[in-house]
Amino acid sequence: MQKHMSYLQKHPSITRSRLSNFIGNNQWNDVNIQSVLYDQRISGEPHVMLEVWSAPGQERPTFGHAVKQEFSPAKVGQVFGPSWTTHWFRVTVNIPKEFAGKKVQFLFDTNSEAMVWSADGEPIMGLTGGNGGERHVDYTLTAQASEHEKQRVFYMEMACNDLFGNGDYHEHPQDRAIYYQLSSADLVAPNEGAWALYHDLEVIVEMASRLSQDSPRSWQALTAANAIVNVFDHADLSSIEPARELARQFFKAQGSEANHQVYAIGNCHIDTAWLWPYAETKRKAARSWSTQLQLMESYPEYRFAASQAQQFEWLKENYSSLFAKIQDKAKTGQFIPIGSTWVEMDCNLPSGESLARQFLLGQQFYKEHFGEISDVFWLPDTFGYSSQLPQIVRLSGAKYFFTQKLSWNNINKFPNTTFRWIGLDGSHVLTHMAPSETYGAQCRPGELIDSVKKHKDIAYTNESLYLFGNGDGGGGPLRAMLERLRRMENVDGLPRVKQAHPREFYEHVERTATDLVAWKGELYFELHRGTYTSQSNNKLWNRQSEFILREVELLSTVAHMHGKHQYPANELTRLWKLVCLNQFHDVIPGSSINVVYRDSDKIYEDVFASAKKLRQDALAGIYGGASEAGDAVVGFAVLNTTGWMRSSVVAVPAALAPQFAGAKAGDAVHTQVSKDGAEVLVLASNIPGCSAQVIQAPSLLQAEQVAAPGLVPAQVRASQSGDGSFVLENRQVRVTVDRNGRVTSYYDRLEERELVAAGQAGNVLELYDDVPLYWDAWDVEIYALEKYRALEGGEVAIGEEGPLVASLYLSMDIGPGGSKLRQKISLSAESPRLDFENDLDWHESRKWLRTSFTWDIYSDQATYETQYGVVQRPTHRNTTWDMAKFEVCGHKFADLSEFGYGVALLNNSKYGYATVGNTMSLSLMRAPKAPDEHCDMGRHRFQYAIYPHAGTFSESNVVQEAYQFNVPLQVIPLGLTACSADSLAQPCFSVSGARNVVLDCVKMAEDGSDSYVVRLYEAYGGHARALVTTKLPAARAHKVDILEERMGEDSELAWVARSRTVEVAFKPFEVVTLKYFAR
Ligand SMILES: [Zn+2]
Repeated sequence: MQKHMSYLQKHPSITRSRLSNFIGNNQWNDVNIQSVLYDQRISGEPHVMLEVWSAPGQERPTFGHAVKQEFSPAKVGQVFGPSWTTHWFRVTVNIPKEFAGKKVQFLFDTNSEAMVWSADGEPIMGLTGGNGGERHVDYTLTAQASEHEKQRVFYMEMACNDLFGNGDYHEHPQDRAIYYQLSSADLVAPNEGAWALYHDLEVIVEMASRLSQDSPRSWQALTAANAIVNVFDHADLSSIEPARELARQFFKAQGSEANHQVYAIGNCHIDTAWLWPYAETKRKAARSWSTQLQLMESYPEYRFAASQAQQFEWLKENYSSLFAKIQDKAKTGQFIPIGSTWVEMDCNLPSGESLARQFLLGQQFYKEHFGEISDVFWLPDTFGYSSQLPQIVRLSGAKYFFTQKLSWNNINKFPNTTFRWIGLDGSHVLTHMAPSETYGAQCRPGELIDSVKKHKDIAYTNESLYLFGNGDGGGGPLRAMLERLRRMENVDGLPRVKQAHPREFYEHVERTATDLVAWKGELYFELHRGTYTSQSNNKLWNRQSEFILREVELLSTVAHMHGKHQYPANELTRLWKLVCLNQFHDVIPGSSINVVYRDSDKIYEDVFASAKKLRQDALAGIYGGASEAGDAVVGFAVLNTTGWMRSSVVAVPAALAPQFAGAKAGDAVHTQVSKDGAEVLVLASNIPGCSAQVIQAPSLLQAEQVAAPGLVPAQVRASQSGDGSFVLENRQVRVTVDRNGRVTSYYDRLEERELVAAGQAGNVLELYDDVPLYWDAWDVEIYALEKYRALEGGEVAIGEEGPLVASLYLSMDIGPGGSKLRQKISLSAESPRLDFENDLDWHESRKWLRTSFTWDIYSDQATYETQYGVVQRPTHRNTTWDMAKFEVCGHKFADLSEFGYGVALLNNSKYGYATVGNTMSLSLMRAPKAPDEHCDMGRHRFQYAIYPHAGTFSESNVVQEAYQFNVPLQVIPLGLTACSADSLAQPCFSVSGARNVVLDCVKMAEDGSDSYVVRLYEAYGGHARALVTTKLPAARAHKVDILEERMGEDSELAWVARSRTVEVAFKPFEVVTLKYFAR
């Protein structure tokens, strides 16, 4: 007769609760599985003796320094802090006899992060205290203790921060003081059978709840787990083995060959800075990766991938023995350096050249230290992916791309999992977005079930990547994850799982997948749209760094190739590494804590100071000594580093040019003394690209020197109208500005056309309430657009009155925080461009400042600059996909054009644009309070400009104008010693026959030879045949990739020796790198 009724099938939910109670650490843990996990536990003296030395301030001393200090007694229960301090423990343990024959672990829980060090200074593994899912506090002392264990001494380096910095960053300022308690320092002997049963149950119980409830396998899991609980007796450890046998029976049923195949790869996402500074990241990488090396010893099947060459370089510098071990494990294939780039950078804001350098520096490091470049571009966590990435990836030796971030979209679900991503120029990369929608999977059955359920291309490819391991602040996979993974390798009900190099996954897809779908253009991220604006100085400095390094490389190459200067290759590499570092995906977007920006400020200070010195050195090489202030100045060279001829008003510092400072308006139309007397303005006309034209003092005032003969000298003037408005006008445009700084009329005299829409205005300053749903520094939300006011109460006064520059000064109070804007609106004699120079003192809370321009232009598309090209986005909101792009990223400009005419909005450091109908807006400032409560408070200087043009965008020269707006012509004061027949008198490079081709980067080759490299791109989206001429020594030229490797057999270009010219064909938006060889 049956002894008991079978109730389970009638009450599965009760059974599921019973099971989760059985494995949980809860009120039942004196009788459930938790009660038998350790056979022995002992603490305190004489078995465990603790001593501590606390490092002063926020210093992070080395092992060698720390162990020489005086340690004092410490005990469990003591607290340590405040945040960001470091405490070194010397631990002496004596394993007692009763542990003999057993595995012995030391459980050290500081409720913070810590590192275990051997007595002789080897970093052994990282620990993470606390009771979260990342908890990892066990350090195994021996796999089997003997009767007579010797005393052991080792060290613990406690860092007073947790994996996620310093507590909840949404609710608390990050600079408050937090203290961490040492809550355990125990010797334990784990019961390995009990642990194994525990891991069995973790898998079976979750299968019972996550598999489809009407599937037989779900019932099998439920009955198996229930039977195990019935067999288990906490008071009788011999019950563990029969319970395990029940689990083995369950796992015996294997999956079919046709099941989905998951390629699992361990990883730990370590943000290079975020809720902690760079200095802590150096230790995080060491802690996380050393732990993984330990796991590799116990789990030969384990594969772990780590990205970001910068973190490897830090490890090499600070933990050389650990780095050597990683190199060894890379050879065996267990430790996989991956990613291709210097850091996991933001992909919205960095320039094309910056992205190229991210790959160049990353791949160089991998090649040098791991013997091969990485063919997987790995970027799980960046806030959107530029449409130029496929081309840059391909030009950098990689061909596969991994991410998952678009699963965070808050409006539309991204429709693809495994697909061909086609870039702006038509290049494509095989792309995969993990269907588990995380890079921090925990090796649980539900995630594997999701890998199938959420896979959107399973019709074409029955496999997926699966990234497991704790991340963001590091940590990585834990032993328990690998145990669960072993159990799930091939079990009926779940997809099959194998640990593999991600390349193996991609190669398999390439071999087997048919009809993969394609996605053309940018992978716009429908979240974190505030990151185009937050921490705005950081963005300005990035932009300026990109241009100053470009200029230094160009000038240094010229000086070097003329034998007058040694190219500073190492220093330039160092500076590019710094610029690339600050492009990390929480730094440049503005989503880090305050201390990170104090660090990045210092880095930029270094970049600018060093770059200016290099620039001075290069100019000294070219001119035989450019003048310092105080030296006798005999003239000026006007330097044009862009690739095309240009004219512009330049400002000569009056202090450097006393002989011009006395000039008055009327002396000669081509000079103007600035209102404050500090500068003399000079119109420099027709300065060829990549050249510097010397202007001698005596000739400066002669009009024909600076204006093309036969033309009426150009003038601009400012005036006030009878109605109180102000007018700036030159022979091309007439601009009317009201007392709030709004442009009420912008009249093109040559085209006889009014640009401002009837009854509308430009430069309308708008203040929005900016309260996002959750991520303060990250997000502007769509509803913010409903709640704003146009600012009024401004005052305008006339500044400069011509003849070369005329300007107005707007003063305006902004917002309840007492912010003040002073804006100079100016027009020069020879351009239709209207410049807005801003000096903003910003003190708001959760406000968003924008400027808007409503034009009499009709178009469904607006054009935005991106890396090495442009993207078009709709000006309407037809679909949710269009609507989601209510704030988008643009680089130096955005343009709204219709047949015959267009207007561009240029900037020197802003990235957040929007165009709705005929209104284009630029985001100027935000005021988020987390994670940096001081974000953007204080003084800011930035510029934007309006550039109207006849013709559509493709017919315009907006790309060049925006470049010029960011790279003004420069005045180089020349001393008596300056050589007049210098190497910049003639253009050192020129591009002809293709006005759509932009010459961007000029540098010496990475191979250290006398070869140099020129990078150009097609900027408007059309084919081109450009004649590229160099005046620097060269005998031939090859087409190369970003790594400066030749591109195929026919990479050599036909060479016209007499003129040192090559003809280069471009496809739309193609990036072409030329390498010139001296022989
Ligand atoms: Zn991240």
